[in-house]
Amino acid sequence: MEKLEKLYEGKAKILYKTSDPDLLIQYFKDDASAFDGKKKGTIVDKGVMNNHMSSRIFEYLEENGVKTHFVKNLNDREMLVKNLDIIPVEVVLRNVAAGSLCKRLGIEEGRVFEEQPILEFFYKSDPLGDPMINECHVDIFGWATKEEVEILKSEGLKINKLMVEFFKERKIRLVDFKVEFGRHKGQEVLLGDEISPDGCRLWDWETNEKMDKDRFRFNLGSVEEKYQEVYDLICTP
Ligand code: UDP
Repeated sequence: MEKLEKLYEGKAKILYKTSDPDLLIQYFKDDASAFDGKKKGTIVDKGVMNNHMSSRIFEYLEENGVKTHFVKNLNDREMLVKNLDIIPVEVVLRNVAAGSLCKRLGIEEGRVFEEQPILEFFYKSDPLGDPMINECHVDIFGWATKEEVEILKSEGLKINKLMVEFFKERKIRLVDFKVEFGRHKGQEVLLGDEISPDGCRLWDWETNEKMDKDRFRFNLGSVEEKYQEVYDLICTP
């Protein structure tokens, strides 16, 4: 598949056009950012690890009936994906209290949501710092239709269930994660973006040690080593 011009460059990835208008190449960079881009750095080989981890997780989700933009892995830093019109709503699922939820609501980090996960929506906007929104905002401002919102919720919950299992088998607790969806050919809603320790909170099942981007956010050290540990657990058979 021939790589043509750059379509979009984000903080951690670049999308390139291909000769097929329906297919894009998603390239994973080593660049890391946090706190709305105020903290910037590099995590050595993050792009390679995230590309392979995302590919494996997309395959797993597809095997279990989740429709995604993933087509195939191309090489260490690139995957072939379907061209989506991204819905500007970030869907966050939480199984354990952490991050912005603790700050916003004064909940102690580590509280487990036994009964059901918490599902939240954020408006995908860098200049506004991705503010939290609800279904009324999505509807009234036309970011997604009511039918699409139902899909974001049901697919979000289904992905959470599958991912909790996937990580549990690898002795990792899935604390929370963010996913993005998009319309394929203006119609079907597919899971897009990536799924990696950049957008998930992952804690060691026994020790609760953090194994995700929080190590970079809060200067906890051993960032590459922890990404590598997660990579080994996900990508080695
Ligand atoms: N997240 C993300 N991109 C964002 C915001 C959040 O990938 O722009 C992920 C984050 O890594 C975490 C989950 O979504 O796994 C919930 O993040 P939270 O709302 O707690 O915000 P944060 O503490 O990361 O600011």
